[in-house]
Amino acid sequence: MTSMNRRNFVKIAGAAGAAALLAGCDNGGDAEQTPATDDTADDTPDEAPYTLVKEGVLTNVAELGFSPFEYIDEDGNTVGFDVDLSNAIAEKLGLTCEWLPNQAFDTLVPTIEQGGKADICIAGMTITDDRLEHVDFSDPYLNSNQALIVSASSDATTESLNAEEIQIACQTGTTGDEWIQENLPNATRVPLSDVTAGMMGVSTGSYQAMVIDLPVAQNMLAQSFSDLKILEEIPTGEQYAIAVSKDNPGLLDAINDALAQIEEDGTMDELKQKWFGTTDI
Ligand code: GLN
Repeated sequence: MTSMNRRNFVKIAGAAGAAALLAGCDNGGDAEQTPATDDTADDTPDEAPYTLVKEGVLTNVAELGFSPFEYIDEDGNTVGFDVDLSNAIAEKLGLTCEWLPNQAFDTLVPTIEQGGKADICIAGMTITDDRLEHVDFSDPYLNSNQALIVSASSDATTESLNAEEIQIACQTGTTGDEWIQENLPNATRVPLSDVTAGMMGVSTGSYQAMVIDLPVAQNMLAQSFSDLKILEEIPTGEQYAIAVSKDNPGLLDAINDALAQIEEDGTMDELKQKWFGTTDI
């Protein structure tokens, strides 16, 4: 394929009208070929409409301490809503899924931007304007808000937490981290790489509060931290989406097509039911 035809192919394949539109490609090849199965018109193999770090594999990167979205279970397996969703996407694309070892949340966007290590980041990651300067995001797949967590016995109010002697934990570089800086500017913010460490700290009294995504707060309080409570649900109106390199628009299209199918064929509702006990999230 010439570079011009390759460009056409990328656009066409992304639009999912491959067969019909390929006929309009004036590349001298066999217009009847389908991109996935026939490479006889050319000595080189068919170009995929996107690039992958590893052939046949959708390589994921995430911070793996964000239950129930992505976490390591007792048997050492990477599991969660996002993991199942990524597997479902990979299946639609005819790929298998692999996960890189755990990475700090604030390294994820740079990893995708730099390329070469992971194809996608699915990590309960909120679409933000700042991140959009560095990566592309898929269509959103889940809505989220923030939660302000304190000890169950605390009589703090949100206002009383806005004081220098108050230590408020968050995960570094998250939207919760930003929320503290904007809304409780007098408090002493404690950015951590690990969500569980933050909750442990509130539990033991090292920190007076933590700000974290609401679905994760609800899950972790129910599972492991019955001595903590949600003081306030903060309606930030966030949307989770999958980050993809700006150099890989074909992959973004393919993921959006897969997500649309997953919504339509009921897989998304099944996964929500499995991980949240409701489809209303
Ligand atoms: N949704 C939040 C964000 O995107 C937190 C994500 C996370 O900690 N995995 O910043």
